[in-house]
Amino acid sequence: MRLYSTLQRELVELPPSPAKIGIYVCGPTVYQRIHVGNARPYVIFLWLRNWLKHRQYEVKLVSNITDVNDKIYVEAAHRSPPIESRKLAEEMSDRYREDTDRLGLGRPDAEPTATETMGEIVAMIAELIAGGHAYEAQGDVYFRVESYGDYGQLSRQKPDQMEDQEPGPLKEDPRDFALWKATKQGEDTSWESPWGKGRPGWHIECSAMAAKLLGPSFEIHGGGLDLVFPHHENELAQSRAAGQEFAHIWMHNGLLRLTGEKMSKSLGNIQTLEQVLKPPPEGWGRETLLLFFMTAHWRSPIDFSIETMDAAQAQANAFREALALDERENPTEEWSRLEQALDDDFNTPLALSILHEWRSRGARSLLFQGLSLFGLNTLKEEARPEVVKLQEERDTARKQRDFQRADELRRHIEKAGWSASDTSSGTVLWPKHERKH
Ligand SMILES: [Zn+2]
Repeated sequence: MRLYSTLQRELVELPPSPAKIGIYVCGPTVYQRIHVGNARPYVIFLWLRNWLKHRQYEVKLVSNITDVNDKIYVEAAHRSPPIESRKLAEEMSDRYREDTDRLGLGRPDAEPTATETMGEIVAMIAELIAGGHAYEAQGDVYFRVESYGDYGQLSRQKPDQMEDQEPGPLKEDPRDFALWKATKQGEDTSWESPWGKGRPGWHIECSAMAAKLLGPSFEIHGGGLDLVFPHHENELAQSRAAGQEFAHIWMHNGLLRLTGEKMSKSLGNIQTLEQVLKPPPEGWGRETLLLFFMTAHWRSPIDFSIETMDAAQAQANAFREALALDERENPTEEWSRLEQALDDDFNTPLALSILHEWRSRGARSLLFQGLSLFGLNTLKEEARPEVVKLQEERDTARKQRDFQRADELRRHIEKAGWSASDTSSGTVLWPKHERKH
């Protein structure tokens, strides 16, 4: 199995299975309900975890919840009436878990929060100060970029190309970034530290959570392409400066794009994960969203629009119909083609094209097994008893050559959300899900 890594700028082989694979993925900052774009890394890394387990690896997937952040303070203060930032973070963490649960892919093996890792965060900052890699300035603590020679190795930027991430009069060097921030007015949550009351910077939170749950050296660090700089560059610098090897492979998923303002408008409010996951006719439902994510390679951008989601919906309906039909062939030796596609940089568009090939050939068992890897086994649905009764009545009407009655029964079946296909063995029912525009 090999995966493309931003750090090495090439495909990197995983150790042969069975081996322990630790994966750390940057999760959401919980200040509002998550956007459908935030669901992409969640889906990709849950799929990857599940695939590696299938390949006999012992995997631990850690995905954090950032519950201490500027955005949370700002949003909590702007609520009417204003609420405690801690309360907002708790509420939005619950919503995040509910929304991602509905993807039906299981949960990460650990979901640490910054709040519960405060002891480790403070200890790591103290260690960096002791090693000369950080300095205190009026209650703030900054990482001393100059002290770490490999700074810029992940994003491959030269020192003079790097913008000032967060301007501040107390910094020795514009490239330095905050590890600890002294409490400012309007911030209602703070922690005691050797440098006074304050709270950690975002980057050190992730470094400390990863080390706590995966140890000083682990296999994969993931997140969106927008996190390469400064977030991941800073995580890598801090952790390595603290003597840890940290992550070996750095996977950055391409971003979800809403092409243009017009597109954004036409989608209206169906941009949160919650809205997209509503079953048709209001949203598209989980199966369509998962198939949509499969259509693009994880490293590529993906365009979210009514057209692309409708295309994914048509694919879901085609799979539903194929799973309801009888098996025509079972070429089990072809399973390895799917394995090869996923083992080679987790190529889901190639895997999807293989699944469609099996679909058109009527290789039903293989298709079901393949879809199950992506949480899409639910595309095979059993009809409710009342719909099955309509199906039986229709078969009887057709046997009696009462085609008027058969057509009438087909309409009843469709009203119940199912489609009827005529086959040599009688009426086959399959569920058709469609969003109304
Ligand atoms: Zn992070």
